[in-house]
Amino acid sequence: METSRIPGFYNMTVEERRRLLTKMENLTDKDAGYLFSKEPLAMDTADNMIENVIGTFQLPLGLGLNFLMNGKDYCIPMAIEEPSVVASASHIAKIVRNAGGFTTDATNRVMTGQIQVVGCPDFNEAKEALLKQKKSLIEAANNAYPSLMNRGGGAEDLEVRILNEESGSKYSQMLIVHLYVNTCDAMGANIINTMAESLAPVVEGLTNGKVYLRILSNYPERCLARARCVIPPDLLKTGDFTGEEVRDGVIHAYEFAASDPYRAVTHNKGIMNGIDPVVIATGNDWRAVEAGAHAHAARDGVYTSMTVWSKDEHGSLVGELELPMSVGMVGGSIRVHPIAKLAHKILNVDSARELAQVIVAVGLAQNLGALKALATDGIQKGHMALHSRSVAIAAGATGEMIDMISERLIEEKEIRVGKAKELVEEYKK
Ligand code: NDP
Repeated sequence: METSRIPGFYNMTVEERRRLLTKMENLTDKDAGYLFSKEPLAMDTADNMIENVIGTFQLPLGLGLNFLMNGKDYCIPMAIEEPSVVASASHIAKIVRNAGGFTTDATNRVMTGQIQVVGCPDFNEAKEALLKQKKSLIEAANNAYPSLMNRGGGAEDLEVRILNEESGSKYSQMLIVHLYVNTCDAMGANIINTMAESLAPVVEGLTNGKVYLRILSNYPERCLARARCVIPPDLLKTGDFTGEEVRDGVIHAYEFAASDPYRAVTHNKGIMNGIDPVVIATGNDWRAVEAGAHAHAARDGVYTSMTVWSKDEHGSLVGELELPMSVGMVGGSIRVHPIAKLAHKILNVDSARELAQVIVAVGLAQNLGALKALATDGIQKGHMALHSRSVAIAAGATGEMIDMISERLIEEKEIRVGKAKELVEEYKK
């Protein structure tokens, strides 16, 4: 995609948007076919993906626009049912674009596997025995999945922790092996689980303990992605609010979330409003990403804001977000679901590291969208206007009735299904 600035995209019909995208992205007829298809995920594919299939469940797929990161443009496929998220992300992306765009980076994609050992006769001796054999354990893990090393990845480190050492602990003492694996462009859950399971007998032999769990940790603290934006106040001016007022309101909103878990959870939900739709659209495991993100937000023992907002020496608003991001370009349903394949094509990322950075930048944009609205007019003004369409549909409106009823709901400042039902009846008469 040469540019993600497509003025007027919002006002086009779905058909016009699809045609424009097909042209801009040079999509093949097959790709475009999925976009226009009534059943993009065929029933026999779905039946092979999970158990007890009775149908498929569709979500709206929108395009987040205006995203510029590290000098590259991205159109962001977002699968989500909640109104105003795509609009808000695109709105903030436009502001950040005018400020030079997001800067992003990421660590290598090192995921963590855990092996639980209980009943060791001497836990400290067991730990020592494992650490002495660290090199050969890593080698054994790699032998269980040799193709990963051929791709430049593989197991690269191992640590051992002892849990519940203190006498009187209500839980059993146990030894936990952490295996760190560069899973290249895969999320890596199955890869890690295979490696962890293969090590279990050797670990039992070295520790004289019994291995129970052998599984990926969904807190991959060595697989982080970061996004940053710096916005001069004049770009933040909104309605009657000066840019400085908006900036200060955003910083105060952040300080609230940073110091209160009740607010942090809602603040972070707003960040995940941006992150989940991209994770879902790209066929990735959003439960894994959610779990890791919230664990990271509580890494110092208190649940707090995922983002940090501050003011630099020029008075610009600075936003930063760092999250673990266990997403892949291959594996799971990514190469199975046709729309996920299409989403990767539209997004045009070359690696899981790049994908992780894009996702974190969308989360940062979404957070600013929410904080900016909250610190100025309040969230309901924009949100309810968009929500009114869903309310009209829920009340039974179809076709041109949807716009008419949605407008009446906004005019009369009563965006409720009950009111919408009355209007539908009135319209039918
Ligand atoms: P896969 O098991 O599909 O493994 C990905 C495969 O892709 C690799 O085995 C590799 O196979 C192949 N591959 C091709 N190109 C590359 C590349 N460039 N880099 C890396 N691998 C490549 O998926 P994952 O191991 O990623 O597991 C993800 C799935 O596991 C998700 O569906 C997730 O929901 C699920 N899961 C999640 C758990 C959790 O979160 N706790 C637990 C269990 C499962 P080869 O080398 O043979 O070519």
